Amino acid sequence: MRPDTPAEHIAEAERLIRTATRYPEDQEPLLLQAAAHLELGDARDRASALYDQLLSEAPGNPQLIKALQAANLWEYGHEAEARALISGIRAASPKDPAPWEVIAETLETHDELEASHDCFTEAASLLITDDDPLTPATTALLTGRHRVRRLLARPHDDWDMVADTRHIGPIPLDELHDPKRIWALGSDDPAELRAEIARLRAELGDRRAALSRPFPVAILHWPQRELAELLTSYPTLAAEYTSHETHLAAIEASLRALAASGTTNLGIVTASVPSYEAFAASEKTSPASPSLLAEYATTLAARGKATTWPPTPTATCWCTSGKPYAECHGDK
Ligand SMILES: [Zn+2]
Ligand SMILES: [Zn+2]
Repeated sequence: MRPDTPAEHIAEAERLIRTATRYPEDQEPLLLQAAAHLELGDARDRASALYDQLLSEAPGNPQLIKALQAANLWEYGHEAEARALISGIRAASPKDPAPWEVIAETLETHDELEASHDCFTEAASLLITDDDPLTPATTALLTGRHRVRRLLARPHDDWDMVADTRHIGPIPLDELHDPKRIWALGSDDPAELRAEIARLRAELGDRRAALSRPFPVAILHWPQRELAELLTSYPTLAAEYTSHETHLAAIEASLRALAASGTTNLGIVTASVPSYEAFAASEKTSPASPSLLAEYATTLAARGKATTWPPTPTATCWCTSGKPYAECHGDK
């Protein structure tokens, strides 16, 4: 189960912090995810302490952590500190789009549209060149920039055109990003206007949620021999897995259903009996308990062990059959 209430988010954060002490090599992704849960549980001061702890320990991506810290601090009233962090990140000109997007969206959230626009533009100028194809992360910069420019009523430029062309979804970007559209069309229906603004906020909210949780929703994959060993040792789990073939089909079906419902950042984590038993021992639970399987998957993903799904059509299928994905589980 994914945490939902503030108390559940805090419990999940505490579990991840405990896990981080057992896997020091995976501490950064674990604590970043714990901080995201603390933010969602409205324990922003505790999230802030975790970001500071990570920053004091020579992290792999300090600019992203500073950006998340700035967003968090500003959200609970520490505007001056947040602004100082944002200036520092801009001065450092990181080559990773993620910190840029977080700070530009933080400025946007606090109605600093000009400054947000400048951040998006700086990032795009720095990271998007004719030689590099756009990635999902650099496209997101152009999408954010497009949104802020619509809010500022700026005319379209070349990058806006690119954002429009790259946008996938049922509602065109210009419609999605224009809360003033209905005024411009002369509508005086406040309900319609509210719906438009709600739609814009929802789009921004989804994006922010994805950013504060840059961790995959991962499904557990048991290789054939591991699954056989698991079911021999713990027959109670047989109800979860009728056969290896149906297990593999169920993985693909679950991931497709999640993707269809709009969940992004999906992945697969590979299970093994010894690592599952070690996890059960650390949680002081019996491996025979079916409810432990989901927690095991979440923990592997939080430790950075997930493989991104879907593979490209020509890449080897995730099931390790050796066949291309398009001719194996990616077959329509
Ligand atoms: Zn447009
Ligand atoms: Zn396959």
